[in-house]
Amino acid sequence: MFDTKKKLKYAVIKWAMSTQRVFRTHISNPTNYIVKCVETGCPAKVHGHVPKYNIQWVVTNVVPSNCVRKNLLVRHPNLTSTLIAQLMYTEMVEKKNMEAKHIQTAVKVRWNYN
Ligand SMILES: [Zn+2]
Repeated sequence: MFDTKKKLKYAVIKWAMSTQRVFRTHISNPTNYIVKCVETGCPAKVHGHVPKYNIQWVVTNVVPSNCVRKNLLVRHPNLTSTLIAQLMYTEMVEKKNMEAKHIQTAVKVRWNYN
């Protein structure tokens, strides 16, 4: 269960990054969030929703990947600049003149992606 959709999305992306898989958003609205693996024929998906009379997001269906990755991902399409900005917001505000190179290094160290 997740307090917000943002937290649910972050959990899904962390899972995608740790398993070297890429998810595409299938449905994203105020009560439903469904992502699927980008690989054709792979059943992997995550379905989260806000049940009636509820305020928290509940994940009701998680199907793991069965697709084979041909080579290691060095960049991850789900790790967007928006997500990085959200995750590193406090640091960026505190350090004021943080250079792009520092952010790139921090991303590489923490998530192992370029
Ligand atoms: Zn897959």
